[in-house]
Amino acid sequence: MAIYKGTYSERYRRLTLHNHLCNFRCLGCTYKLKNAPNPERFFEIPEIAKAIEGLEFDTVHFMGGEPTTNKGLPELLAFFKHSVGVRTALGHTNGWNLVTKDLDATNVSIKFHDDNLAREYTGLPAGRVLGNFRAAYDAGLAMKASTVFIPGFGGLGDLEKIVRFVEGIDRTIPFHVMGYVPMPGAPWKRPTDAEMADAVALASAHLDHVGFSHLTVEELLNTESRDDRFVVRRVF
Ligand code: SF4
Repeated sequence: MAIYKGTYSERYRRLTLHNHLCNFRCLGCTYKLKNAPNPERFFEIPEIAKAIEGLEFDTVHFMGGEPTTNKGLPELLAFFKHSVGVRTALGHTNGWNLVTKDLDATNVSIKFHDDNLAREYTGLPAGRVLGNFRAAYDAGLAMKASTVFIPGFGGLGDLEKIVRFVEGIDRTIPFHVMGYVPMPGAPWKRPTDAEMADAVALASAHLDHVGFSHLTVEELLNTESRDDRFVVRRVF
């Protein structure tokens, strides 16, 4: 069990379980900026159950790293779905090992549509993520999707392939375009306002519900001050 932290949002009645490590090696991974130390310990279901006693929440979110790398995820999903009785969601996932059993919703980050771009950026190809996304939709999960927009790598061309792919499944799936935030060791620049506007316009031509973020490094490191969904307290 790789859960190292639980946080709670009273306002959104949401528990979030944080999982250590990821199977991708994204060149633009935002965790690089946070320089988090390795967890001191991990928590099993009985300890989690004790820590959340008395909390009122409707949804449990699993976050990473990458939540599906946790071999105990099926057991956790069953516990929250059937013993606690709340909605279960992957708050974000790279989609490589997308589970569907006892899961109600998932937000998949489709990094790239092109296999070569995906391999270069994440270390793994894109096709499996796309296939898993479609299978999760067919299994009845509430889907959301996102991507990172890098003008100098993939750019509008790959973004168009991704949004057309999602449109081909269901154009009402909410889609988020995350403007690339420059990371140490990666060569690309942050999109300009005009480049970002073009990306959002392109996505909006194919999908009904498009949102975006266009953060600076400083804004990324201070999400709590900009978005109350990140205002949480630690419960274990
Ligand atoms: S999938 Fe997410 S957590 Fe994993 S390396 Fe990529 S950006 Fe980082």
